[in-house]
Amino acid sequence: MEEINSVVAGAGIWGCTVARRLAEAGRKVLVLEKRRAVGGNVRCETDPETGIEVHVYGSHIFHTHNGAVWDFIRRFVDFNGYQHKVMAKYEGKSYFLPLGLALINKFFSTELSPCEVEDFMKDEKRSKAIFDAFFRGYTSKQWGRAPESIDPEIIRRVPVRRSYDINYFNDYNQGIPLSGYNSLFERLLDHPNIRIECGRRYRLGDFPDAKVYYSGPVDQLFGYRFGALPWRSLRFETERLPLADYQGTSVVNYPQIDVPYTRIHEFKHYHPERKDVMTRTETIIMREYPASWKMGDEPYYPIADAESLALAGRYRDEAAKIPNLVIGGRLGGYRYLDMDQAMAAALELEL
Ligand code: UDP
Repeated sequence: MEEINSVVAGAGIWGCTVARRLAEAGRKVLVLEKRRAVGGNVRCETDPETGIEVHVYGSHIFHTHNGAVWDFIRRFVDFNGYQHKVMAKYEGKSYFLPLGLALINKFFSTELSPCEVEDFMKDEKRSKAIFDAFFRGYTSKQWGRAPESIDPEIIRRVPVRRSYDINYFNDYNQGIPLSGYNSLFERLLDHPNIRIECGRRYRLGDFPDAKVYYSGPVDQLFGYRFGALPWRSLRFETERLPLADYQGTSVVNYPQIDVPYTRIHEFKHYHPERKDVMTRTETIIMREYPASWKMGDEPYYPIADAESLALAGRYRDEAAKIPNLVIGGRLGGYRYLDMDQAMAAALELEL
C-alpha cells in the first residue's frame, strides 16, 4: 500500500465507519486498535460448542430511524428482523417493558383502555409505585447513585406509551446482522486502501504527517493532564446451561435493589432464524452487574454530571488545538451513544 495519509485509532462503530469512508474517498488508511480484534464493544464471540453468538460486552441490538445509517449499514450486512422486547421481573412476576398498557394493567390488575391510562396514571401514588418498582432500584444499581441525581435524559431512553406496543425501541428499523456482528466490522474494513494493526495504541505525536481520527478515551490521549473522566463499569458472569431455553426471551431486567445484577441476557434469542442453534438443548446466559470504575477498568457509561462534562469540554478544547486531529465515538466524545448514533456521527463527519 502507498504511503498512509490517514490514521483511524480505535476500531469501534465510529472508527470503522470513518475508515471505510476515507478508503472510498481514495485515502490510504491505517486502522490502529489497541485490543486484539476490531469491533469495539460490539465485538461478539461465537461459542464453539453451541454456535451461540455471545455479545461479550453486553447485548447490542441495532436500531435506527436514520435512513442514511440504515442504507449504509445494509451495504455490508443483512438483518434478521429481530425486534427487541425486554421483560422485567419484579417480586416474582414478569412484566413487559416499556411503561405501557401491558405493564400497567398487570401491575394494578386493571383493564384500562388507551384513553383511560393517562388519567389513571395522573394519581401520584400510582406513578410513584411504578417508578419505585421498575426504575428506582434498577437506576440506583446501574449508576450507583439515587435516581434523582442522574440526568433525566437517561431514564427517558425508555419509552412511555399508552398502547400495548411492547417493542423496546421506537425505531422501525431493527435487527441483528444475519452473519453476526463481527462480519460487519470485517466487511467495513475489507478495502484495498485499509490496513489494520491490532494490539497497538495510538499516542499523541505518532504519524505526524497523517490526519488522525481518534476514538479512544480522550483523557488518556492527553495523559490525564486535567484528571480522569469518570465512568460507570460493568461486570459480566456467563454460564452455559443444559437447557433449551432459560428465560424465553433475550433480556430480563431485575429492577429490585436486593438482586445484585440488573439484567440477564440469553443470546440464542437474538437469532431465532438459526434453527440449528435454537433447537439445541443448551443455552448461554449472562448476568450483568453494574460496577464502579477506576483507571484501568473497562469504561462503559459516561457519568455525565456538570463537573465531568466540563472536564470533557476541557479535553475537547485541547484536542481542537491540534491540527489534523479529529475526535469521535463514545470514548472520544465522552457520550452515551447508541450504535446508530455513532454511525450517523461518522457518516456526517467532514473528512
Ligand atoms: N431503566 C430502569 N429500569 C429498567 C430499564 C432502564 O430504571 O428496567 C433506566 C436506567 O436508569 C437505565 C436507563 O433507564 O440506565 C436507560 O435504560 P436502557 O435500557 O436504555 O439502558 P442501556 O441498555 O443503554 O444500558
